[in-house]
Amino acid sequence: MRAAVITDMGKVEVREVPKPSIEDGGLLLRVEACAICGTDVRIFNFGHSKVKFPWTTGHEFAGVVEDIKGLPDVDLKVGDRVNVDPTDGCGKCEYCKAGRASLCPETKAIGYYYPGAFAQYIAIPPSIVRAGGVYKIPNDLSFPEAAVTEPVAAAINGHENLNIKLGDTVAIIGAGPLGYIHSIISKLEGAAKVIIMDVVDDRLKFASEFGVNLAFNSSKVDPVEAVREATGGAGADVAIVACSVTQVIEQAMRMVKKRGRVLLFAGFPKDRSKVEMDVNLIHYSEIGVFGSFGAPRAAYDTAHKLVASGAFPAKKFVTATLPLDRIAEGFAMAKAGQGLRIVIQPWA
Ligand SMILES: [Zn+2]
Ligand SMILES: [Zn+2]
Repeated sequence: MRAAVITDMGKVEVREVPKPSIEDGGLLLRVEACAICGTDVRIFNFGHSKVKFPWTTGHEFAGVVEDIKGLPDVDLKVGDRVNVDPTDGCGKCEYCKAGRASLCPETKAIGYYYPGAFAQYIAIPPSIVRAGGVYKIPNDLSFPEAAVTEPVAAAINGHENLNIKLGDTVAIIGAGPLGYIHSIISKLEGAAKVIIMDVVDDRLKFASEFGVNLAFNSSKVDPVEAVREATGGAGADVAIVACSVTQVIEQAMRMVKKRGRVLLFAGFPKDRSKVEMDVNLIHYSEIGVFGSFGAPRAAYDTAHKLVASGAFPAKKFVTATLPLDRIAEGFAMAKAGQGLRIVIQPWA
């Protein structure tokens, strides 16, 4: 089969590799679509502590069941169209038992621990099959759309503690694909107003398509002032940090009203993750600060329902599809912030 192999930082080759073999209870998937995530771009350009080259990444994918080994006690058969939650854990710790394998100390996701889906076939380990991580998708949902489920699940996880209510105002810092996914989830949860900001004008062009009420370039205006002004001086109920620049964290705290909630959805580069800020903001304004990383199974269940039913407009996020041979171009497009989700189709 053909697979995109990252041989070193910044180098990717599409080559012939052995088709993966599957373990008893595991499943062989013919990959029809795999979206390029920011994480893939980071691994490709800078490497990753858990990844050793040569390596194939890709964790946002969908395809067709090609083979099932043994008879796992699941309602799946050869030919089923499916989407897979890539997260796996030890199955024994308190996080795994609570359905939160993404927080397992031994978390082992497809694309990092297991070879990823920028390949024609991928082996799904028995533990993921057994734990219900393989989701059947409806015939009218395309594979590229289904591949968008994973980032939707990650966003939904972030919202768990935000408690967005009918009529809330949500300010989103970072108008990348995840920023817009947060916009849609916020609206589905009842937000009356979504404000999005970015330092790149080009990224704000999607705002009107995703229910955003106000979009502005935060390098041209004071973002805290702009949010205050848009809320009659009150501030937003919720601020979501969806970009990896620490300078915006204090801005997020200042954008929300008293008892507001702030989500640090993005991770920050290891050597640039320290901030100095006035933490009295949190104390005196009783601000709730939350983090989120990956997605528990329950969030994936919800994301699957939203994407499969069309309640979440996954199609709008698929701004480009490319064959496997052009993956280097796809990585470059994603790095340059062109479009939202660039989806690789290994059989195209
Ligand atoms: Zn991802
Ligand atoms: Zn565990």
